[in-house]
Amino acid sequence: MFILLLGAPGAGKGTQGTILAERLGLPKITTGDLLRAAVKAGTPLGRDAKPFMDKGQLVPDAVILGLIKDELAKPAAAQGAILDGFPRNAAQAEMVDRTLAERGNRLTHILLLEVADDELVRRIHSRAGIEGRSDDTPETIRTRLQVYQRDTAPLIAHYGQRGNVHRVPATGSIEEIATEIKRIVGR
Ligand code: ADP
Repeated sequence: MFILLLGAPGAGKGTQGTILAERLGLPKITTGDLLRAAVKAGTPLGRDAKPFMDKGQLVPDAVILGLIKDELAKPAAAQGAILDGFPRNAAQAEMVDRTLAERGNRLTHILLLEVADDELVRRIHSRAGIEGRSDDTPETIRTRLQVYQRDTAPLIAHYGQRGNVHRVPATGSIEEIATEIKRIVGR
């Protein structure tokens, strides 16, 4: 099973992805976490990514596509994975689709976590106080939401054509949303 979590910043992809990964015994691949670890470790990848992350812009495909390919190629992801935070634009979607197709796999479920914009902003602000992420300033939050609308939301139509996009109202409690996802995924 390859499950894609799609949704704006603050929609709860990380929280639900962790629950899902644990239940299904699959790895969760989170590009945001991988990039933040690279920044912290001061690797060349991290140095290239940081200025974009700090502004709330997407890290360029030249930097991110290799990372995505490497993660999908790991033995742990041979049977499936939870994809959190990618693909985030058309080029990344193409890379994911092609990499999976080459080995006879495909995205089995696309879960679209839907939350109203004002609630997203509220969640990111309250999380900012806890996590202290450098990209949680009001201006950067606005940019991240705009980038989602411009670059990532079109993937809903891209995947919608295949008929495996499931809309998940993501405003209830964490447990309610997890239960709904369990129903959709079937286990
Ligand atoms: P959020 O979705 O809550 O904004 P993430 O942790 O997913 O947070 O991403 C944080 C930042 O990391 C993004 O604003 C972007 O700069 C970068 N990033 C994460 N994933 C990707 C990706 N797949 N492609 C390009 N940039 C990414």
